[in-house]
Amino acid sequence: MFLLKPLKPLKPLEPYVPETLSAYDLSLEDWQAWLKENGEQSFRAGQVFDWLYVKRVGSFEEMSNLSKALRDKLTSRFKFVSLKEIARQESKDGTVKFLFELSDNNAIETVIMKHDYGNSVCVTTQVGCRIGCTFCASTLGGLKRNLSSGEIVAQVVQAQRLLDATGERVSSIVIMGIGEPFENYEAMLKFLKLMNHEKGLNIGQRHITVSTSGIVPNIYKFADENMQINLAISIHAPNDELRSKLMPVNRRYPFAELVEACKYYLRTTGRRITFEYALMGGVNDAAEHAQELASVLKDMLPLAHVNLIPVNFVLERDFKRTERDDIFAFQRILEKQNIPATIRREHGSDIAAACGQLRAQHMESQ
Ligand code: SF4
Repeated sequence: MFLLKPLKPLKPLEPYVPETLSAYDLSLEDWQAWLKENGEQSFRAGQVFDWLYVKRVGSFEEMSNLSKALRDKLTSRFKFVSLKEIARQESKDGTVKFLFELSDNNAIETVIMKHDYGNSVCVTTQVGCRIGCTFCASTLGGLKRNLSSGEIVAQVVQAQRLLDATGERVSSIVIMGIGEPFENYEAMLKFLKLMNHEKGLNIGQRHITVSTSGIVPNIYKFADENMQINLAISIHAPNDELRSKLMPVNRRYPFAELVEACKYYLRTTGRRITFEYALMGGVNDAAEHAQELASVLKDMLPLAHVNLIPVNFVLERDFKRTERDDIFAFQRILEKQNIPATIRREHGSDIAAACGQLRAQHMESQ
C-alpha cells in the first residue's frame, strides 16, 4: 500500500504581541497589575472590566466613574478598537458574517449563527492557516500570523454589540473560524478564560467549543487544563492514507497518534469528543468509510459523537457535495454501530458560507 511520507512535527509558532496592546488583551489580573503599577487602586480593574464587557462602551472616555487623568492615561497607553468592520454579509437564515480589518491591514472573518437555543459566534484565531487541509479556503494564502488574545476577544465583543440592538446575547462560542487554534494555544487559552470570566461576558465553559485538526501534543496539554470546554476533532477520514491526502497535518501527527491522544483526553476529562467529518462526494463518503470510522470510534464510546458536515463548495477546491440520501446512509451505518451521529445544519448557504471564502474574495480584490 502506498503511503505518503511522514513529516516532522510542526515547529511551534510565536505568539503575536501587538506593538500597542488593546483593551481586550488584558485579563482582570493584568488590569489589576497595570493599575497598581500606575498608582491606581486595584478595584478599578473591576470597573474597567465592567465598562468593557458588561456596558460594552466604545472608548475609555465613556468610563465615567474613572478620573479624567486615568481615562487619559488609558487612552494614551492602549488601543480601544482593534477591529474595523470592512464588510458584512447577512443570510436569509439570520447568519451574519463579518470581515474585519486588523490594525496591520490583515483581514479576518467572524460569524454569528442563529440557533433555536440562541446565538453562537464562530471566531478566527489566525490570519490564514498553515495546516493546508485540501477542502478549506482559509489556507489558500498560507499563514500570515497568529492573532493576539485581544483580537479574538474583540470579535465576540463586536458580535455582542450587534446583538445588543435587539436585546439578544451571545450564548455560545465555537473556535472554528480561520486558523488552527491549537497553533495559537496560549492566546486561545487566555481568550477562553476571558470569555468565561464571571465579571466579563460570563459565557459558560460548556457553551464553548474548540476545534482542532489534530495537533497531538496540544490535545494532551488541553486534556490536562481541567476545563469544561468542549473539544471537537476534525477527523474527516477513517484511516491514515486517506487522512494524509486530505489533511497534510496527518503526516506530522499520524492517525494512530491522534486516536491515542483522543483516548487520553477521554480518560482524563471524562468529557465527550465531537468528531467533525466533512463529507466529500466520491472521496470519503462510501459505506466502507462509515464502517471503518465506526470501528475506530467504538473504543471511545459512550464519549464519541460524529458531526457529519456536507462540505461547502469552494471555487478554488475541486470537491463535490455528497448527495442527501448518501449523507443519511452514512449516518445510518454509524448509528447501527451505536455511534451517535448528527448532520450539521447549514448556515448562511446564500452567502460566502465556507470558512475563509469572504476573506479569500477580499484578498483577490486587493
Ligand atoms: S480546516 Fe482549519 S486547520 Fe484546516 S486549513 Fe482550514 S482553517 Fe486550517
